[in-house]
Amino acid sequence: MADFSQAEVARYARQMAMPEFGRAGQERLRAARMLLIGAGGLGSPAAIYLAAAGVGTMGIADPDDVELSNLHRQILHGTSDTGRSKAESARERLREVNPHVEVIAMKERFSAANAMDMIRGWDLVVDGSDNFPTRYASNDACVRLGIPNVYGSVWRFEGQVSVFDPARGGPCYRCISPHAPEPGTVPGCAEAGVLGVLPGLVGMLQALEAMKLVTGMGDPLVGRLLHIDGLKMKFREFSLRRDPHCARCSEGRKNLPIEEEGTACTVVNPATKEISVQDLAGVRKSGVPHVLLDVREEWELAAARLEPCVHIPLGQVPARMQEIARDVPVYVICHAGVRSAAAAKLLAEAGFPRVHSVRGGIAAWSREIDASVPAY
Ligand SMILES: [Zn+2]
Repeated sequence: MADFSQAEVARYARQMAMPEFGRAGQERLRAARMLLIGAGGLGSPAAIYLAAAGVGTMGIADPDDVELSNLHRQILHGTSDTGRSKAESARERLREVNPHVEVIAMKERFSAANAMDMIRGWDLVVDGSDNFPTRYASNDACVRLGIPNVYGSVWRFEGQVSVFDPARGGPCYRCISPHAPEPGTVPGCAEAGVLGVLPGLVGMLQALEAMKLVTGMGDPLVGRLLHIDGLKMKFREFSLRRDPHCARCSEGRKNLPIEEEGTACTVVNPATKEISVQDLAGVRKSGVPHVLLDVREEWELAAARLEPCVHIPLGQVPARMQEIARDVPVYVICHAGVRSAAAAKLLAEAGFPRVHSVRGGIAAWSREIDASVPAY
């Protein structure tokens, strides 16, 4: 491997001084090629730290232009960049941060159609996308190509980070979330709002994971989901399991064509949202944090129940809402889906951000998922 110039040695001295990283780590970083999807709230801090650390080649893919409303969180860009291409603005800023880094700017929308072409040839992907079609396409292409995908997402005061890498034995994004939610069930950033610091924090954690993956330092977040609650300042870790029947990373499915999943534009829809029993089964299998709220009567639970669940009969829901966690998705179930829809509506009106009624209820579960649960 070529030697470092004096300027590079001086620049990287503090990180090369760490025995875990050292000269070998710096060399691996310089040889690395990382693709950042999105030069926004997550991509900004990730890109700045990765460039400063000395990643050899960085690709920045973003189709959008800088807007004034981006600047509170997208710190790659400054006031004078408004109206410019984010990819171009990012390249210029990163060149100033570290001229030893080669930055390839791609003003292109990442989609199912071009995912394979855009990801091929990179060592890893840092996914800073803010919409489901991009997230699923980047996951699917990474699985096909055997490339780790450093995932991050932010919702209001909460953030999540993980590394999806079935090649290292962990799950992929689809193991955890088999399909994009129905349009209208998840608010986008514009509707939900976000504090700039939260994506900053998550993007930096993504950068750290990316550096660990290419240098071999430490234990990456493979099979683990780090959940950050910025308001309570709590960091929690959940283990994630690979779904042996995953629609993407399971045996024989890796090379399936990459198809568009979900819609880019999401708006808040006050109508009751539903989840199918198949998707609920996926959620329960994945171990992703959630609450299953059973609103049937005591005797019905005695006849058939899914564990673990929180049990509050429909009539008591208005008085006992404080028993239900607000910071994770809530799936409401009853016998056939009518009472659960009513309860879901009550919770949504009370400000629970992610509530779904289980379509067809426990009867559908018994019929379609697990016959050992009595239909009563
Ligand atoms: Zn999978």
